[in-house]
Parts: sequence; C-alpha cells; structure tokens
Amino acid sequence: KLHNSIQELKGNIRVFCRVRPLIGDETLGNDGSLQHMSFPDIEGKILELEKIGDVSLNESTISAARRANNKYEFNFDKVFQPTSTQAEVFEEISQLIQSALDGYNVCIFAYGQTGSGKTYTMEGPNTGDPETIGMIPRAVMQIFDTIRGLEDNGWQYQFEASFLEIYNETIRDLLGNLKEEVKHEIKLAGQGNNEVVVTNLTVVPVTTEKQIHALLKTAAQNRAVAETKCNERSSRSHSVFRLKITGSNEFTGEKCQDLKESCRSILEQDHVYPDSSGTLNLVDLAGSERLKESGSEGQRLKETQNINKSLSNLGIVILALANKDSHIPYRNSKLTYLLQNSLGGNSKTLMFVNVSPKEDNFQETLNSLRFATKVN
Ligand code: ADP
Ligand code: MG
Repeated sequence: KLHNSIQELKGNIRVFCRVRPLIGDETLGNDGSLQHMSFPDIEGKILELEKIGDVSLNESTISAARRANNKYEFNFDKVFQPTSTQAEVFEEISQLIQSALDGYNVCIFAYGQTGSGKTYTMEGPNTGDPETIGMIPRAVMQIFDTIRGLEDNGWQYQFEASFLEIYNETIRDLLGNLKEEVKHEIKLAGQGNNEVVVTNLTVVPVTTEKQIHALLKTAAQNRAVAETKCNERSSRSHSVFRLKITGSNEFTGEKCQDLKESCRSILEQDHVYPDSSGTLNLVDLAGSERLKESGSEGQRLKETQNINKSLSNLGIVILALANKDSHIPYRNSKLTYLLQNSLGGNSKTLMFVNVSPKEDNFQETLNSLRFATKVN
C-alpha cells in the first residue's frame, strides 16, 4: 500500500478531460460538419479535435497542441467520452478520495467554460436520480462506507465541513447566515502558521453522511439566493467544498497521517505541511470563458479583471509547482491562497477539464484543452 502511494506521489498533478454529451435541441444543429472530436486510443487518454470549416485561429497560440492540418491532439491522464457515466468517472477518482482519509490534502477542480458540465460533474444534475449524482456526494458516500469498515479495527474519524464561494475576490460563507454582512479574511494560523483559516467562516463538525447532505442543501439554497441578486454569479464564482478529516486508532495510537509521514521521509520532500489531518477540497471553478474587459468600466471593470485574474493565477501556480519554482505566487489570488496547503508539497491535485461538443464552442473548447495541457 505504501509503495502504491509513493508511485502516486511522483505524479501528483493529474488532468482528466470530460466531454459532455449534446443535450436537448443541441443535437439538431450539430451535424459534425464544422468540428469533429474523436477518441482514437483504447486506453482513453487521447482526444482529437478537428476543425473542418472556416478556421479563424490565432496561429501563434496553438503550439501547445500538436497540430496536423486542423487537427489537434491532446493527451490526458484520462479522457471521458460523452457516454461516460458518473459512476465511471468516480471510479477513476476514488483512490484520490481514499488518499484524503490517509491524511493527504487533496484538491479536485472542475475547469471549463460555462455550460461545459462542471457542476454536473461535481454535484450532479439535482434530479434525485442516484445514477447521476456527482463526485461530491459520491466522495462523501465512499468516505463513510470506508470508515464504517474500519471501526472494528479501532479507527475513529472526525470531520469538519465548510462550503464557501469566492466571487470577485470576496469570500462568501455558503453555510452562514446570508442576512448578516460578514467579512472574511484568509489567515495563516496554527502550529508554525501552517494552517490556512478563513475568519468568521462556519465550520461544522459532522459525524454522519446525513449531516453533510443537509449542509450541501443549505449551501445550494444560499447560492440560489445570491444568484437571484446577480444572475451571472454562479458562472463567475468559484465554489469550494472542504472536508477536513482527522483519524486515529484507539487501539494502536496510529494517526491517519502516519502513512503520509513515512512517504515524506522516503521522498525527502522539502515542502511539507505538518498538519495532523487530511483535507479534501472539491472546487467548482468559475467559467473559463474570458470576460471582455472592453465596454465595462469602474467597479464593473475591476470585477471582470479580478475574475479573469483568479483563474489565470491558478494556472500559474500549478505550472510553477510543476516546474518546481522556488516562488509559488499563492497569494496573488484568494483561491490559491486558500488552497495553498492543498496544492504542491505532498498533496494531490486533480483537474477535470470539462468541454462541450457543440460546434460553436470550438474556440472555447480549444482554449480549455490548451490550458489543461499546459498544467498537465
Ligand atoms: P457548468 O457548471 O460548467 O456551467 P453544467 O454542469 O451546468 O455546466 O452543465 C450544462 C448542462 O449540461 C446542464 O443542463 C447539465 O445537466 C448538462 N450536462 C453536463 N454534463 C452532462 C453529462 N455528462 N451528461 C448529461 N448532461 C450533462
Ligand atoms: Mg456550474
């Protein structure tokens, strides 16, 4: 088991691509005459995107993709086709969820343009159909199923849940009281200033799966209220569901981070966080379509710039980590500041890049695939 974990640590940033199916009326106009997507390899790691019609691409920006005529080939750790089910997708992340129980800090992001399937992937479509529930409820289910099986061996776990949203570099507590205007700041605290805390944030100790579902429901309701005040809000904000997991064995005195600690000494990682628990962060990112700065001014322009900046800074941070740069610009945006202990070091990161198969989304799809290839 230890050996497996080390194998995993070596490549601790992974990127999965998911192509959603055409839905509703989209199937009518999309005859594949302008764009073609194909999945040529049996292992499911390659996506080919072909532009058939009029090409109006900026030639200097496409070097990230290997290019043959108008065909772009992208390699990922995994490519999910439109027919892939939520269960099939979860199957590929379930090890990562286990890692959070083993004491690792884990981040799972959904990146992509608005309408590409980020929320579907993370939360599911909210139809009540157990087949289509998303990664968040599946992760919660797996965690509680696993610890139930460990109880007899003396393992006991404590959980703390929080759910927040970052919009225009401002944090909103999705489990808090919406009527109160509360300011939230990110601070470093704890032993050696190693823990990232958000001031005034609701952090709920939970012991059952049912309690977490109640919190998810509260968060959804709070988001819906915020949305009616600003209807672009959900596409322009990042939502972060965070579960802090602390485990110990009452028979042997082992802690859940012991596995992580032993990996650390073997790998001699210089960049470690001596916290005593694992944290699972599930992040539904703001839409990746670049917002136009022209035409907006004043407060609105600043907002647009903030929203653009926070997503591009995430790419910069992940790239800097992959390059082992000495300075990682975590503090350049709220999102990366908040997640700094869960990005890099011996934490594990997975990014879903969600794309739409719609022909008129070709350029945004290409942008997303290029972004994801860069961080891969
Ligand atoms: P985003 O969060 O990226 O803006 P959504 O998750 O809201 O996008 O997805 C846009 C639409 O596509 C929704 O109606 C959603 O139910 C549907 N959808 C997305 N992914 C899938 C999928 N894999 N299977 C079926 N429908 C999907
Ligand atoms: Mg969404």
